[in-house]
Amino acid sequence: MSANFLNTPIEYLKGVGPQKADIIKKELNIFSYEQLLTHYPFRYVDRTKFYKINEINADLPYVQMKGKIISTETIGLKRAKRFVAKFSDGTGVIDLVWFQGIKWIDEKIKPNTIIEYVVFGKPAVFNNKFNIAHPEIDPVSAENTTLANALQPVYHTSEKMKVRSLDTKGFSRIIKTLVLQIKNNIPEILSKTIIDRFQLISREQAFVQIHLPQNAEMLKKAEFRLKFDELFFIQLKLLKQKTTREKTYKGYLFATVGNYFNDFYTNHLPFELTNAQKRVIKEIRFDMGSGKQMNRLLQGDVGSGKTLVALMSILIALDNNFQACLMAPTEILANQHFETISKMLEPLNLNVGLLTGSVKSAQRKKLHEKLQSGEMHILIGTHALLEDEVQFKNIGLVVIDEQHRFGVAQRAQMWKKNEQPPHVLIMSATPIPRTLAMTLYGDLDVSVIDEMPPGRKPIQTTHKYDSNRERVFGFMKEQITKGRQIYVVYPLIKESEKMDYKDLMDGYESISRAFPLPQYKVSIVHGQMKSDAKEFEMQRFVKGETNIMVATTVIEVGVNVPNASVMVIESAERFGLSQLHQLRGRVGRGAEQSYCILMTGNKLSADGKLRMETMCRTNDGFEIADVDLKLRGPGDMAGTQQSGVLDLNLADLAKDSQILHAARNMALEILGEDSNLEKTENAPIAYHLAMMKKSKVNWSRIS
Ligand code: ADP
Ligand code: MG
Repeated sequence: MSANFLNTPIEYLKGVGPQKADIIKKELNIFSYEQLLTHYPFRYVDRTKFYKINEINADLPYVQMKGKIISTETIGLKRAKRFVAKFSDGTGVIDLVWFQGIKWIDEKIKPNTIIEYVVFGKPAVFNNKFNIAHPEIDPVSAENTTLANALQPVYHTSEKMKVRSLDTKGFSRIIKTLVLQIKNNIPEILSKTIIDRFQLISREQAFVQIHLPQNAEMLKKAEFRLKFDELFFIQLKLLKQKTTREKTYKGYLFATVGNYFNDFYTNHLPFELTNAQKRVIKEIRFDMGSGKQMNRLLQGDVGSGKTLVALMSILIALDNNFQACLMAPTEILANQHFETISKMLEPLNLNVGLLTGSVKSAQRKKLHEKLQSGEMHILIGTHALLEDEVQFKNIGLVVIDEQHRFGVAQRAQMWKKNEQPPHVLIMSATPIPRTLAMTLYGDLDVSVIDEMPPGRKPIQTTHKYDSNRERVFGFMKEQITKGRQIYVVYPLIKESEKMDYKDLMDGYESISRAFPLPQYKVSIVHGQMKSDAKEFEMQRFVKGETNIMVATTVIEVGVNVPNASVMVIESAERFGLSQLHQLRGRVGRGAEQSYCILMTGNKLSADGKLRMETMCRTNDGFEIADVDLKLRGPGDMAGTQQSGVLDLNLADLAKDSQILHAARNMALEILGEDSNLEKTENAPIAYHLAMMKKSKVNWSRIS
């Protein structure tokens, strides 16, 4: 076995050469044999079956047929010129059409002969008749009628590649050359225990079968094996990080639940905790009392009451003579947390501080002093908390709200604020499917609040087309008459910022016209306003001085205005599901019936329709996240972009949850018995893990 086989640069492969290699590198970011092997087909074409022409319907994907050409002709002029061959198999006739390469095809196929052809392509309907544009066509031969290559791989390539004959056919040829050389060159990366347990085929066999499947059954086995490999090593990496961290850092021991917690719980709790809140607080208490450093993700839908959980956790820190802080992603949200928490803690006589970008330096200095002397118990703020000058006497707990706005690096910065890293509680209002959480936050423990505080009326969501705007305005007026307040939100997408602002301003004008002063008052908030102006407008709405808040998505995060009971989302088709759900969560916080109205244009894509239907059907954030994951794939979901843990070539978190669970459990089991992967039996695993770390760095330097 050649140790370097997998690392061999692709230009060494016969049929690649420097020019093709360059394109493959540029277009696909593929440099080595290994990367070429793991550039898997994205689908397969089934060539086991020959269709009859009278079986063809428009729903079929690619079909293969056998028959004769009965006539050919070139029709039309210039741009409209096309070559049409009538193809028959005795059950019917279908047109094969070429718009390009007409001369070539005219010479290649001859009508009225005894030659039989194999035709392969995608049927489409034109003028109420089926035709196939640009089919593959070849005379019947032993090769194209035997079933050896029944499942043909189809690869992602690019336009630039196609020009250099690296279309799926050309690319297949290259991969085939490589696959024929891999015998005895693919080291096993799993232990025998795992291979036996899941009856896996070898990695080498899997590479062969994924690219050149013998049959559907072998393809399945290959897919399972390679997906398992991907998921297993990600889980192993995450779990190993976790065990290493637990070994390296002792956590502060919060041994007691004392006066602050008990006094608050018994005398000042504004409402009965939900069972989910109770359970989660217990989990947190257990972590902080275990001697290990807590790294816990608290997931809970918008409005599920995470703030209270944070507060009670903070009180446990204080009970053990530690300070605590709460970090929020925006100033508005930090202010709101500061107000809520200060108010709830009033009777406890605690010092709560607020630190945001707009705190003046004199005040800042005082704050710093109080933190260092220990006089300040709780600090609430924004990114400003991360700065090096912010030092505590003894910080024991860091709560981070709305995690996906903060990067992992920022999280780590908070670790340095005490001799040992403080406990960390991360709160996320973006419900993400369990599979994704296991992968994104696989090194964290996860708590879930899966229950809403009682007495909430589920938000009623409807979808309206722009043409119904007058009626929507009418409904809004009714609600305002009842004393309610309303959000109207416009999308703001970086690429078309200018147009978005125009939409927003046009919308603001038309609303101002439909809701005129003095009867109605309309606020507007958007990202291009100065922060004090923004704050001023926000406050007017919070205080109930305005009826309508027209905004871009700046209001997305966390703002709490219980009297706002209607959320109108403009151009809703331009928002992703999780964002729609987040926005909807801004209403439904009071006792009144709340409404969410999704406004869209009349033309909607299939995905767009499904998103609107999903929103109207359910309020369950986890269900919505599942649909979102299926629609968009994990790469586009909130928080995954910067994570780098989703380098999945084959496995799909939306579909492969069973393999993921099996892989994670296996990783847990192995680390449980052999945490440093020192057993001989686990040597291949340890080796591959080390190689993974190495290869990441190298290739990115070269490219
Ligand atoms: P989120 O999880 O979105 O951060 P919040 O903590 O802001 O939710 O809570 C939303 C609202 O629900 C707040 O007004 C809060 O006071 C209220 N709330 C929280 N817990 C309870 C409870 N157990 N019973 C009733 N209301 C609650
Ligand atoms: Mg919140």
